[in-house]
Amino acid sequence: MLIVRVALPVPLRQHFDYQLETDDPTGVKVGARVLVPFGKRQLVGIVWQINPIDSFDSNSLKNVSALLDPVPVLGPKLRDLLSFASDYYHHPLGDVLTSALPALLREGRLLDNEKHKLVRLTNCGREQQPELFRRSAKQLALWQALLTSDLTEAEVLAEHSRTTLNQLLEKNLVELVSEPFTPFVHQTEKQKALQLNPAQALAVTAVVQALGSFSRFLLEGVTGSGKTEVYLQAIAPVLAKGQQVLVLVPEIGLTPQTLARFEKRFAVPMQSWHSNMTDSERLRAWQRSQSGDAAITIGTRSALFLPFRNLGLLIIDEEHDQSLKQQDGFRYHARDLAVKRASIEQCPILLGSATPSLESLYNVQQKKFSHLPLPERATSQLVPQIELIDLKQQVLKHGLADGTLAQMRQHLSRGNQVMMFLNRRGFAPALICHECGWLTECLHCSAFTTYHKQSRQLVCHHCAATRPVPHQCGACGSTQLAPVGQGTEQLEEQLAKLIPDFPITRLDRDSIRRKGSLEAHLATIQSGVPQLVIGTQMLAKGHHFPNVTLVVIVDVDGALYSSDFRAAEQLAQLLTQVSGRAGRGDVAGKVLLQTHYPGHPLLQDVIQNGYSAFARSALRERQQTQLPPYQFMAMFRAEGLDSAICQLWLSELQQICAGQMQAATQTAVQAVQRVQWLGPVKAPLERKAGKYRWQLQLFSPDRKALHQLLEMLLSHIQKSALSRKLKWQLDVDPLDLS
Ligand code: ADP
Ligand code: ZN
Ligand code: ZN
Repeated sequence: MLIVRVALPVPLRQHFDYQLETDDPTGVKVGARVLVPFGKRQLVGIVWQINPIDSFDSNSLKNVSALLDPVPVLGPKLRDLLSFASDYYHHPLGDVLTSALPALLREGRLLDNEKHKLVRLTNCGREQQPELFRRSAKQLALWQALLTSDLTEAEVLAEHSRTTLNQLLEKNLVELVSEPFTPFVHQTEKQKALQLNPAQALAVTAVVQALGSFSRFLLEGVTGSGKTEVYLQAIAPVLAKGQQVLVLVPEIGLTPQTLARFEKRFAVPMQSWHSNMTDSERLRAWQRSQSGDAAITIGTRSALFLPFRNLGLLIIDEEHDQSLKQQDGFRYHARDLAVKRASIEQCPILLGSATPSLESLYNVQQKKFSHLPLPERATSQLVPQIELIDLKQQVLKHGLADGTLAQMRQHLSRGNQVMMFLNRRGFAPALICHECGWLTECLHCSAFTTYHKQSRQLVCHHCAATRPVPHQCGACGSTQLAPVGQGTEQLEEQLAKLIPDFPITRLDRDSIRRKGSLEAHLATIQSGVPQLVIGTQMLAKGHHFPNVTLVVIVDVDGALYSSDFRAAEQLAQLLTQVSGRAGRGDVAGKVLLQTHYPGHPLLQDVIQNGYSAFARSALRERQQTQLPPYQFMAMFRAEGLDSAICQLWLSELQQICAGQMQAATQTAVQAVQRVQWLGPVKAPLERKAGKYRWQLQLFSPDRKALHQLLEMLLSHIQKSALSRKLKWQLDVDPLDLS
């Protein structure tokens, strides 16, 4: 009889003990899954401890219903990472553990430890041309499927017939591999590496010398400086040792383009990991990480939790990107946890960006990260200059100055592409009543609703509520409703009239909704046909558009006067990244930035001195104002139907803070003394999806002091009766303050 302490996916910050009858106590492993009764349900949990010394009297314990794994699904290194994450983010361990597992394992699917039969092309099969299968469409289909990836026998038989499989087997075009996964042993470089320039060479050498131990690098390379080439050449020796590599990329950056660049270089098994995969694809990728079969994994943030057998290098591309932070549930930052993972795996971590986060630059200043600069573009092209177009007192055509339009026409007629950046999707941010000034607002949020002309809807971009476009003003009944402001949909419509001779491709969340449409749009741009490309910040995410010679930044004026202390950093990143899309081919690039505030210090700083200089002065400002990264920050959010209750609940927390500070001054406990707070205050978006929103922000230069206080507050929250009347969240190192 064993007692096992189990972490369960419930919002309670505690473990649960169960008893387990077994003939073979050594068969029960920490990190394995068990099925246990919990209330009226059966839950899948993770064994976290066996026979804990402080367990209760075993007579009162319930029995484990089933032991699901003979070997742990979470090995010791991942357990280290996840328990660190649970402590750091104060998120319940059971929830952290299970969110690191693919859905099928979370649901209790048994891992098939029998030998998998994997169907894959033989070398001969790989070299064939489609013509070989002219007489058999069925064989062609299976051959093509296997060209994209190996499949398990079961997967093949789900789509194709046994006869077709046997036919390909007989011709020796495919083989059945009965080992579960064969770890790759060597790597061959398919495509020759480029001759590195001196800055790239220094960067590669630094990383390669550090292989085999934990070290941290920030690769700060202007757009087009050849960061990817540095990644590729740092990866090569890792693969040669038979070790695995993980490359984290931003959400939308994971395009076939990214994968193709890696696949062109290395002949090793590669896989991607992103939100668009089916559950069984995820499970397979998870297993390939664990078996060591996947040499390179390119994935979005949660790929960080894959169970690599032998990780040799971790890379984060576009490390400044906000999508690395999970914004709901378990709110972790993949960049910060990746550093922890690298330290556990004893391997280097390489963060790369043209516009590094202030956090990472601060870590360079603190000598925690080694700085690897790539100050120039890898090709002979210069980084494009931003030219300001002063909009004041100009007659605008659909938001565009005459000068802007003239230059756009010029670039297009020379056979180039023009990219237009406008960070607002939809047709217009609101409809206004021409008679009385009434504006269309969301019924559930303190926000306007965006007018989407194509779908004939008003859509709230905060809560996603939609409704039909009204015919009449909600206040005076007038039918004179008109769009105010401009979104990408409108810009597209108007440009089709202003510049009718060239096609337009629009890239925003609406235009890529259908599966495959992002790829299709990117392919159109890649084809090189002269065209207008209109898009939101999606355009800023690392794409390589060699035919774009002119970038027009239509309107960022609103972002110049935001209350969020990170707004300046984010805008500077966006401007630099968007500008970096210009002139990446053979022709020099140009950027036009339209603004009513050409003298604004932020614009002047970024344009005249570049992002790097801007970021360093922005850091000095953060130091003066004592904001992150100079202080650690955490934020409690409260949301509920009753605004007063939210405020009251946060006031309770705030009073505990105040009480602690006072007690600390009296007893001279230095640690707790150093936490300051702001709030409770209404959130900038006061009401969302019908709920009122309040915040309490906490700051401290002393991480330990902050976290001690958070523990105290959390234990109060568990006891407070008000906690049940609202929804609350704790966000450690919050990025989104809205
Ligand atoms: P980044 O990721 O920094 O924006 P890329 O890796 O996309 O830059 O490189 C930009 C262009 O420069 C690519 O076309 C790439 O092939 C080329 N390039 C990179 N390194 C070199 C080099 N050492 N010599 C010649 N061309 C290079
Ligand atoms: Zn009206
Ligand atoms: Zn809404």
